[in-house]
Amino acid sequence: MSAIRKTGKSTYIFLDIKDNTLDDIDKSSHLDIRFDFDSNPPSYGLGTLERLPLEIIHLILIRLDMRSLTAFPHVNKRARLVTNSIPQYRRILVHAPASIRGSLNIESARFFSCQDLYEKLSTAECDSCRDFGGYLYLVTCRRVCFLCFTEMTDYLPLPQKDVTRKFGLDSEHLAGLPHMRSFRGRYSPRGIKCRRREILFDYSTARQAGIAVHGTVESMEKYASEMASKRLESYNSKVSLRRTGGTYLRPPRYEDSFDGHCSNPRRFMGIIRAPFFTEKMASPEWGLHCIACKPHHYCRPIHWRRKYTIDGFRDHIRECGEIMEGKHAQIK
Ligand SMILES: [Zn+2]
Ligand SMILES: [Zn+2]
Repeated sequence: MSAIRKTGKSTYIFLDIKDNTLDDIDKSSHLDIRFDFDSNPPSYGLGTLERLPLEIIHLILIRLDMRSLTAFPHVNKRARLVTNSIPQYRRILVHAPASIRGSLNIESARFFSCQDLYEKLSTAECDSCRDFGGYLYLVTCRRVCFLCFTEMTDYLPLPQKDVTRKFGLDSEHLAGLPHMRSFRGRYSPRGIKCRRREILFDYSTARQAGIAVHGTVESMEKYASEMASKRLESYNSKVSLRRTGGTYLRPPRYEDSFDGHCSNPRRFMGIIRAPFFTEKMASPEWGLHCIACKPHHYCRPIHWRRKYTIDGFRDHIRECGEIMEGKHAQIK
């Protein structure tokens, strides 16, 4: 059910859309994070770390990558109490637990810190445009809006063979690059079933690594095209040496595979819905849709998938006009 509310003369709507992002799928794999309610003091401390004031320990912990931070409470009860008392970490656990659960499930939690995650959750704007970004891209922890993560190349994570082919990188270069291990399930609004767990690399950091290895964009592209020609030559010679019959030889691929954008499951595998909240806000904002934009499916500023914060919605009304009889006054 969609809920319709009013602010002044204008009307907004919370559309109930099933996009099948990671947070819809990995719910079954819950996060084992517990707050301690028993008041007994812990039996063991943190060793030499205890010499530091608690604030300094917090500063160290929030700069750790999320995988290490979430492993630290397993040391003992004192470590659990200290971790759960980090204000930013507590707020993330309360308002956006899916961001921690998701990044652990797709194994990208080692590529960003608690501080990085908190900064993204307390910033409303999409990293790639000025709209409200109602989602997080968990491979590198970026805030994104629906239109950016379904359209932009940066948010389509790539399998290793594509990264190698496009950016001339080998497995040695790939080792430290941000990547994710997809979770099995049905992704995208079309609910496309993905049975295999795939390793997928972040596009933009892989491209930057390719440029760093080859010196310039031109030399990287030249190298990639020479390698593609060699693979094709090798394939042609194997085919010509063959007698008829035998197993099928797959030709080398030198073009990108079809990108169905908002129906491409890979674009949804590292994405979760994410609220926006700050220390001062009474409750988090998840974003709302404009009721007058609901029939428009083509381009901004009137597009049904744009989401707004309350303040952002006022700006949208200023730009496109008050809503009269379900339509923006300034849009013909
Ligand atoms: Zn955007
Ligand atoms: Zn609108």
